[in-house]
Amino acid sequence: MQLQKPPYLLLLFLLSACLCSCNALRQTHSYDLLLTHANVVDVEQGQVLKNKTVVIDKGTIVEIADGGEAKKYRAATTLEAKGKYLIPGLWDNHVHLRGGEALEAENRNLLPLYIANGITTVRDAGGDLYPAVREWRRQIEAGKLAGPHIISAGPKLDGPKPTWAGSIEVATVAEVPAALDSLQKLGVDFVKIYDSTISGDVFQAIVKEAEARGMLTAGHMPFTAKLGEAIDNGLDITEHLYYAFKAGSPREDSITSVIRASAKTDKPVGFYTALHWLYDTYAPATAQQLFRKMAAHHTAVTPTLYISRVLNHLQQDDHSHDDYLAYIGDGIIKTYDGRINSAKRQSPEAVAFARNLNAKFQGMVPAMQAAGVTILAGSDAGAFNSYIYPGPSLHKELELLQEAGLTPAQSLRTATINGANVMGKADKYGTVATGKAADLVLLDKNPLEDIRNTQAIHAVIFDGKVYTSAELKQLLEWLKK
Ligand SMILES: [Zn+2]
Repeated sequence: MQLQKPPYLLLLFLLSACLCSCNALRQTHSYDLLLTHANVVDVEQGQVLKNKTVVIDKGTIVEIADGGEAKKYRAATTLEAKGKYLIPGLWDNHVHLRGGEALEAENRNLLPLYIANGITTVRDAGGDLYPAVREWRRQIEAGKLAGPHIISAGPKLDGPKPTWAGSIEVATVAEVPAALDSLQKLGVDFVKIYDSTISGDVFQAIVKEAEARGMLTAGHMPFTAKLGEAIDNGLDITEHLYYAFKAGSPREDSITSVIRASAKTDKPVGFYTALHWLYDTYAPATAQQLFRKMAAHHTAVTPTLYISRVLNHLQQDDHSHDDYLAYIGDGIIKTYDGRINSAKRQSPEAVAFARNLNAKFQGMVPAMQAAGVTILAGSDAGAFNSYIYPGPSLHKELELLQEAGLTPAQSLRTATINGANVMGKADKYGTVATGKAADLVLLDKNPLEDIRNTQAIHAVIFDGKVYTSAELKQLLEWLKK
């Protein structure tokens, strides 16, 4: 009798195993990730959808159901999100990966900082590390490197003997097609034009030719060019506020003519001289016409308020104890010297002027929003841009946009759906919706009450992969020098 026991047990085991697997077959599909009882932030409508179940599979949001339906789904991982707020992964719409081969590893080490701060996409506005950027992007997309999706301009286009290393020199209008050919060959996502030495005519010719080829353009502009004309030619993004500010002067035409005429002499009118003239003549009513034109032609703007503020306070602010210096490589910190030294040389009058100018720039932001202009939050983080740390600087930019007069919802759009719309990627990114990429940030507080709540990060989800707050802390610890 005793001998019968083991086979009997074995039979029972086999039977129950069969029952289990048959049951499993009957049950619903097992998803990768389930967020339960989440307050989903609808960034487009500026409202909270309470108590939702967000179902994620293979890096995509496959369903958003009511909270009570959570039990219907089986998932490998479940994240309880009760009392939390779910927003789309943030976009920093203006960063730089640059500094030459010697700083390649230090640039790579900056990438996880974006994830740690809830930033799942960055727009790299030109640099000299494009081959490396492409390799990092490959590793990030393969899940082998912690970092954001990278939308990259590759090398900048500029005039002869440009300021920034790695720029492609375009001296004449005749050279424009070849320059764009080379960018297309590299497979860049957009064209970044920089104004260290480029002529106004070449700038406009690039915008026109890129528009004809269906390439997106973003630009710093030489003061010999006019933004209104660039908008007519198809410019997609104007970086910083200087050029919209220039177009806000009723005397833009005559000032531009003087600058152009002087450019051929041995006493060209400098950028700061021209800025004073513009400052004295800027008129909100003229600017309003320009903003309406930007809105009608879908030309977006990246105000970059935070970097202006930091650079204008370099003489008085002591950054030597900033927490984030612990994450920045010594080579990159060395590149901060350039702007620190030029700040030291600034006269008190120049500092005062820069601050007054910033105050005017802040005033432009709500006027642009009211006119329907697409505003993009961008930090300008990267080597050479002193103390603009990857990650926290985007949150600071959002604070300043709110301080300038945007509502929390409008501010949130500048770092979510707006960038996705401008870059033609809104089918996959920018909102929490079925069918979109599972790039998400879970917050402890409601960002629609105060944009500073985007800093209360509970978890970050990139491409469906969860980084819990403990893991984010660990990541930051590991990144310390
Ligand atoms: Zn920049």
